[in-house]
Amino acid sequence: MAPYEGQCHCGATAWTVEIPEEKHILCHCGACKILGGGEFTLNQIIPKSNFHLTKGDLKVYSYKGDSGNSVDCYMCPNCAASPYHHQQVMGPNTIVVRTGLLKGSEKWGKPAAEIYDKFRPSWLPQTGDASFELTPPS
Ligand SMILES: [Zn+2]
Ligand SMILES: [Zn+2]
Repeated sequence: MAPYEGQCHCGATAWTVEIPEEKHILCHCGACKILGGGEFTLNQIIPKSNFHLTKGDLKVYSYKGDSGNSVDCYMCPNCAASPYHHQQVMGPNTIVVRTGLLKGSEKWGKPAAEIYDKFRPSWLPQTGDASFELTPPS
């Protein structure tokens, strides 16, 4: 399992992640747009034990997700870059890591799936191998 490194913009925090599969899930949801400052984010669901904070401390920002459960976003207290978030609906041992912040992940192929496609802007073509209006059926 390849270890990948990431760090925030200001350099106060850094992390490594063991990535089971070199794949992005592209998300167009409203929270990702506002928190990420762009039209989408790149993510992967991984076991929490695969994430290792190697420098600094992260602060938590929580909001209610579509399920009504809390989504806890972990971010640098200085520059607000966010390496991962924890959707409580997924249970305590699973997190969603921002694969776009991992060094070298730009060399991975196109996203395996695109979610919240309903909110994709009309000028942006579909890029995922699979595409879902909201989320895949679970
Ligand atoms: Zn920072
Ligand atoms: Zn999203």
